[in-house]
Amino acid sequence: MKVFVTGGAGFIGSHYVRSLLDGSRPGFEDTHVTVLDALTYAGDRANLPERHPRLTFVHGDVCDLPLLLELLPGHDAVVHFAAESHVDRSLVDSAVFIRTNVAGTEALLHACVRTGVQRVVHISTDEVYGSVEKGSWTEECPLAPNSPYAASKAASDLVARSYVRTHGLDLSVTRCSNNYGPHQHVEKLIPAFTTRLLRQEPVPLYGDGSHTREWVHVGDHCDGVHRVLTEGRAGEVYHIGGGDERTNREVAEALLELCGAPRSLLTHVADRKGHDRRYSLDDTKIREHLGYAPRIAFEDGLAETVAWYRAHAERRRHHPPRRPADAIAPVPAPAGAFDSSRTR
Ligand code: NAD
Repeated sequence: MKVFVTGGAGFIGSHYVRSLLDGSRPGFEDTHVTVLDALTYAGDRANLPERHPRLTFVHGDVCDLPLLLELLPGHDAVVHFAAESHVDRSLVDSAVFIRTNVAGTEALLHACVRTGVQRVVHISTDEVYGSVEKGSWTEECPLAPNSPYAASKAASDLVARSYVRTHGLDLSVTRCSNNYGPHQHVEKLIPAFTTRLLRQEPVPLYGDGSHTREWVHVGDHCDGVHRVLTEGRAGEVYHIGGGDERTNREVAEALLELCGAPRSLLTHVADRKGHDRRYSLDDTKIREHLGYAPRIAFEDGLAETVAWYRAHAERRRHHPPRRPADAIAPVPAPAGAFDSSRTR
């Protein structure tokens, strides 16, 4: 068995790859894993074992069709994690999100068809649905993305669907809620707050802090992905939820406690543009059909995550601002371009 994992040096992809290599997935003890990763700012080769007899690491771009056609033959399955994944960055520069998330998915699926890959799992997100005030989304809900990141993921889901319908590709899509756990890039909320609070620095809460997310530990997410890979049906979408809904304020308060930081470090900043208020997934389908259930309680997982960042000082060094300016810089208009006295 040979599995091809894109984005395997990132947070979730590397967790999945490590779980394929550590012998903990029955039936996959001899599986060879090829990781394709462009090592963008978000990818870190140190997230993967430096040397492992069942791992091949390729530094490359998921948009590179000739490379994919060279690498994919002989692989039985593809798990597609590679993406630009940070909403804040998509507010400033959305072009790279369309390139990697949409064109990259198209190149990968095109190459899968041409090289006869048997099974594909496309990793997506709950953000494709927009925001929900009450209740939870089922897999049948319409896509209504609000950020350029979410729009690029929704578009990639539609590309994936078309490859099932048009080419008969055996592909399933997973849509997961917010992940947390060790090895996450420090730009994301939980690592950003943790690493700052461990240094006794202030943390910025967007708006009133009442935005609500459903959290799932990365280990539970990867268990769900693996169930979909091995037992999921072609053309189906599967939600992978954590069932643990928290406001950002509640998450921040739990982190203050775990990091031994005073409440005064919690500050407020203006809300993010187009900030979705609440995400919530109904994951009955994967629970009933594939036997998935999250196992890691948020309190336990969060404590483990904080302990990991406490122990890994090297992951606290690179600390870009969590909040890039969220406006696209306006280009000065040519003189007279918007002169209201002109009718045409
Ligand atoms: P991440 O940003 O930590 O990792 C992304 C990886 O993709 C990095 O290793 C990066 O180097 C690689 N990559 C980026 N562009 C590439 C390209 N052009 N070619 C090859 N590799 C490239 O992201 P993550 O949090 O691990 O997310 C993985 C997947 O899960 C994404 O598809 C994301 O949309 C999805 N997802 C994430 C979450 C979450 O909470 N983090 C929730 C639901 C779904």
